[in-house]
Amino acid sequence: MKYVNKITELIGNTPLIKLGKTVAHLKPSIFMKLEFLNPAGAVKDRMAYYIIKEGEKSGQLKKGDVIVDNSSGNAAIATSMVAAALGYKAVFAVADKTSREKIDLIRAYGADVIITPTHVPWDDPRSSYMQAYELGQQPGYFYISQYHNQLNVEAHYRHTGPEIWEDTDGKITHLVAGIGTGGTISGTGKFLKEKNPDIQVIGVDPEGSMFYDWVNNDTTEGIELYPCKVEGIGTDMVVKAFHPEYVDYVIRAMDKESFITARRLVREEGIMGGGTTGSHLWAAMQVAKDLDEKAVIVTLACDSGQRYLSKMYSDEWMREQGYDIEEKKPQAVSLEQGRQI
Ligand code: PMP
Repeated sequence: MKYVNKITELIGNTPLIKLGKTVAHLKPSIFMKLEFLNPAGAVKDRMAYYIIKEGEKSGQLKKGDVIVDNSSGNAAIATSMVAAALGYKAVFAVADKTSREKIDLIRAYGADVIITPTHVPWDDPRSSYMQAYELGQQPGYFYISQYHNQLNVEAHYRHTGPEIWEDTDGKITHLVAGIGTGGTISGTGKFLKEKNPDIQVIGVDPEGSMFYDWVNNDTTEGIELYPCKVEGIGTDMVVKAFHPEYVDYVIRAMDKESFITARRLVREEGIMGGGTTGSHLWAAMQVAKDLDEKAVIVTLACDSGQRYLSKMYSDEWMREQGYDIEEKKPQAVSLEQGRQI
């Protein structure tokens, strides 16, 4: 018999897929790491498990404690999964732009959700960051603090980086990764650059966020900040889990291009990613334009498009946002007449 005892044993070691049709016009090989095949369906599983296990080891997390954090949804889902598997209660503050599917998933795992307004800055007492922070200071709560916790970075340094290095036989030349907390790109980038300093680490920032200027112009001041529609990347706050020293430069991926690219990927290759998968692929294609056949680009499908069926995969929602999408040709078949109508 081959089996595991806990769902958490299945975290990580996600597969790499070589992209085909969508990138066929480009010379480099482009690979995508399918993070949506983690048990809780996103890139956050390793981090959630790592921080909770380290909390248990250090004695900071005790039986009966309530785990708390703020999240754009996926970290909350991952942490709820680990909390359920290890027997903890959990509560998460999430902004009201978060998809219905992700909020339902957090609740389905048994955790509580505090919905907070999206359109307030991080230091407003109503923000998801401040709501989680305040709860996290109370006795009986264990605060994950994914945006500032160095264990977030370490989880990717110990796991995501080595997985990519091994699966590409050390041939990776470029990593393209979006930045939310910064944990993925900082930990993975650090590991890969230690293995081979020539590897280029390229960040992806959505519109209205500060990572682009932080890295490319070395400033976090005077930037026009606003919430983007893509969920999971971007920040209006200086976050300690992001280490710009491991990032060569940052590409800006706009909401519209991100959604359109993800929608293309699922129809052309059957790979169903969320909005940031589209941002990543769009950015990876910009990088690839200037490179030859020797380049090996790795990017990530951080979560599944199933989390956004009511948003970016809804034609109606896309039109409401003002994004042009191809008109669908009539497909329905009349049962009575057995012909296309
Ligand atoms: N994409 C998605 C869909 C995410 O949920 C996240 C995590 N917020 C990221 C990308 C970015 O990962 P990180 O927080 O490690 O920077």
